[in-house]
Amino acid sequence: MTEPSTEYDIVIAGGGMIGSSLAAALASLELRVAMVEAVDRGAGEQPSFDERSTALSRSTQRSFEALGLWRDIAAASTPIARIHVSDKGRFGFAHIDAAEQGVEALGYVCINRVLGSVLAAALAEAENLKQYCPARITGVRRGPNTSRVSIRHADGREEQLTARLLAVADGARSTVRDMLGIGVRHSDYGQKAITGNVLTERPTDGCAYERFTEDGPIAMLPITNGRTAFVWIAGSREANRLMELDDTSFTAELEAAFGHRLGGLSRVGSRSAYPLTLSRAVRLTADRAVLVGNAAHGLHPVAAQGFNLGLRDVAALCDCIADELAEDAAADIGAPAMLGRYAAWRKPDQQKLVTFTDGLVRLFGSRRKSVRVLRNLGMLGFDLIPGVRRSFARHTMGLAGRLPRLARGLPLRTPAP
Ligand SMILES: Cc1cc2nc3c(=O)[nH]c(=O)nc-3n(C[C@H](O)[C@H](O)[C@H](O)COP(=O)(O)OP(=O)(O)OC[C@H]3O[C@@H](n4cnc5c(N)ncnc54)[C@H](O)[C@@H]3O)c2cc1C
Repeated sequence: MTEPSTEYDIVIAGGGMIGSSLAAALASLELRVAMVEAVDRGAGEQPSFDERSTALSRSTQRSFEALGLWRDIAAASTPIARIHVSDKGRFGFAHIDAAEQGVEALGYVCINRVLGSVLAAALAEAENLKQYCPARITGVRRGPNTSRVSIRHADGREEQLTARLLAVADGARSTVRDMLGIGVRHSDYGQKAITGNVLTERPTDGCAYERFTEDGPIAMLPITNGRTAFVWIAGSREANRLMELDDTSFTAELEAAFGHRLGGLSRVGSRSAYPLTLSRAVRLTADRAVLVGNAAHGLHPVAAQGFNLGLRDVAALCDCIADELAEDAAADIGAPAMLGRYAAWRKPDQQKLVTFTDGLVRLFGSRRKSVRVLRNLGMLGFDLIPGVRRSFARHTMGLAGRLPRLARGLPLRTPAP
């Protein structure tokens, strides 16, 4: 049975890390918002809010501060005081220091599940939001003034929602993007990321480590309870082998690959594996629709930037919407001019991060001797030249380029400069 259409200003497709953040950000504006999410969080299977740890950048911190959510997120996060990058078996290494950058932390490490709980609590309070969950978007039809979205509830019931703007946040394998006819370029890295956490003999003291090995990088991130989260990237076949090892053998291999900077490793928690691809939508908008987060760009996690970049999409989209609403009473938040402003604003940041992360994977993945020499010299130069380090740090912290209100820590209702 199909129920009559329900009207909104914005329908958000996907209530993962990015869709939920967008819904939370829109709570302060006078808009009718709907969010459609396929997987119920209560079932403990929400793919976006799993046990992964995410490194949150300064611009992400500022956005959550502006939304009034940072206190709760910070209470469950661990600050990163230093980042140490090294190349296994080579002489170069690099470091970035929060004190040198004049900031209290370079970023914070938060478990996705925890971030999900904070966002869920905020969304439960949002009076302008209707959540459809679990419900899946099954079709989109667009007219000149609205997008018409078909959804199917878990019990098979179907419903139609109309909106002036459809914000697509259903992840890297977005089916809604396909429904809009927006193409995507995927390239498979032939690698998987294994995530989990371990106990380390020596404390991290707030240092995040990234170690490049012949097979791929290993990141060790400080988290709460004296444990350390790891992201170990390896070729798919090798990753499958590592996933099949028992805990003792796995821990021994992780320790051998990472080295002894943190002493012995023990008591590994449960592990998960994620196949890694680079995906880029060929366009960021279609009539009455806009892409945000992984639906627009899925990055390799080597530089821990995917969510941070997606949150800057959210902040920029909210800026464009707030400006449109401030202009006059007849504001049209899905108008082509507004979508054009969003796309022009976001393209350079997205392009830079895609080039940067993809370049990093290829640079450190290369076994060619000339490339090895170059990257070691690069790492030494990087560490010796403070200007280079500062510029890199600003990108890592998400503070480079033109920043939207939220990424500057300002509420959306702040007048445009
Ligand atoms: C191992 C690993 C480590 C990472 N570490 C970091 C890090 O340290 N820092 C960082 O910034 N980023 C990191 N990332 C990237 C980050 O996790 C992603 O960028 C982020 O999760 C993207 O969120 P999203 O909401 O766009 O997409 P997703 O997380 O994929 O969420 C999409 C949501 O849409 C829902 N959905 C799908 N189809 C439909 C439909 N038809 N109808 C309704 N709902 C639908 C799904 O159920 C899901 O909840 C990492 C990624 C990996 C794999």
